[in-house]
Amino acid sequence: MAVFENIERDALTKLYNLSYFQNNADEWIDSALKNGNHVTVFYLNICGFRSYNRMYGFQAGNTLLRRLSNVLMTEFSDGFLARNMADQFIGAVTDKDVQEKFERIHENMHLLQHNTVLELLTGLYEVLSPDELNNPDCISEFLDNSYAAMKYIYDKPNVNTYWFDEKLKKEAEIKNYVTENVDRAVENGWIKTYYQPCIDIHTGKLFQYEALARWEDPEYGLLTPDKFIPYLENEYEVYKVDFAVLENACRKINELYSTREEPVPISFNLSRTDFESCDVVGRIQEISDKYAVPKYLLHAEITESAMNGDTDIIKNAIEELHNIDIEVWMDDFGSGYSSLNILKDYQFDVIKMDMVFLKNFDERSENIISAVTDMNKKLGFRTLVEGVETKEQRSSLKSIGCDIAQGYLFSKPLPYEEIKELKFQNNNAS
Ligand code: C2E
Ligand code: CA
Ligand code: CA
Repeated sequence: MAVFENIERDALTKLYNLSYFQNNADEWIDSALKNGNHVTVFYLNICGFRSYNRMYGFQAGNTLLRRLSNVLMTEFSDGFLARNMADQFIGAVTDKDVQEKFERIHENMHLLQHNTVLELLTGLYEVLSPDELNNPDCISEFLDNSYAAMKYIYDKPNVNTYWFDEKLKKEAEIKNYVTENVDRAVENGWIKTYYQPCIDIHTGKLFQYEALARWEDPEYGLLTPDKFIPYLENEYEVYKVDFAVLENACRKINELYSTREEPVPISFNLSRTDFESCDVVGRIQEISDKYAVPKYLLHAEITESAMNGDTDIIKNAIEELHNIDIEVWMDDFGSGYSSLNILKDYQFDVIKMDMVFLKNFDERSENIISAVTDMNKKLGFRTLVEGVETKEQRSSLKSIGCDIAQGYLFSKPLPYEEIKELKFQNNNAS
């Protein structure tokens, strides 16, 4: 009996464990619905639990988890409750006042812990009919939905519980759709490349375009990258989009050569997962050779956060890209935990400063941009500032000594046929 219990229960909290929940929740929900109950699937997360553990030790962390489980068991005594992992709890409950209960638990968190008051975030999903249980993946879907509701309020102050709603439903639908249809999208040419100009801040002339992905879907219309890039990154499939974007750009450069127009350089985005999914440098070489594009016209943008974790793979790729004459630009510098080590250990050609610095542009941010620009100069990197929206920003960046600017002041990303009509001349530079 004891052995059996260990298989289905979480040792610390004595709640069910995830696999037991996943295998049995459908039966539980089915019978609850048939007995005329409302059923809500919840996903609860303790924010900042890791630092709590670090600050007060694992023992205190475990005590908190046990206390919280006891509260859940008391509040939802008829529920089917489980611990997902570390600081996350899941469950199916029949209480009509489920939201009020979670809010009360959140308000009373100070009773369970040391001085800090940890935030609880709970996502709720209501299962409306037994028909929803016909799908063999239904429990994972219910959990995904309540998780999406929880994640939605992550950065919203003063909201601690949230119901999965129509807006999140649409997002979840698109998420499933894009992960299932990425191959079709590439084959059918639904992945389009939009171009945003980057301007030489001293001359006001076009320096290059950044190639940005858009998914023109026959069913969902124009999808911006936030609707597909993160989901494809999770599935390690974003390289399919990245190389489709690059291929479109190389095809365009080839076309321009054939009409004797002078092509401008193009930067393209690479995700960290690309380096784990395929031979990035090989693919770039293959595509640029196919369209006879000189390598010096291509700049690879790699985001700052890609430098975390196993870095050898990225370091080698940067070296290989340099060996074949492709510039490597660091994207989003300053958006995460910028480590100066990155600037010490990696050789970049351009540092793209994240647009957060221009969001509330004041003397402090101007000083930061100025100091980073000076440091980049000493290290031999050029500085690009993203998110330039006003003439004032442009002129102060010019006096600071930044090299390149990108932002809506010059243009938003557009299809090539539209962007080529915009002329960037000296007289734009003032
Ligand atoms: P990013 O690489 O930092 O690209 C710049 C984003 O900032 C673009 O959004 C652009 O439209 C927006 N932006 C440019 N200037 C301004 C401005 O002045 N103000 C404001 N508020 N925004 C500005 P977009 O095209 O929606 O792309 C968002 C992100 O999606 C990109 O950020 C990049 O991280 C990712 N992404 C886009 N295309 C690709 C791709 O082909 N591959 C990969 N892996 N990621 C991509
Ligand atoms: Ca970029
Ligand atoms: Ca960026």
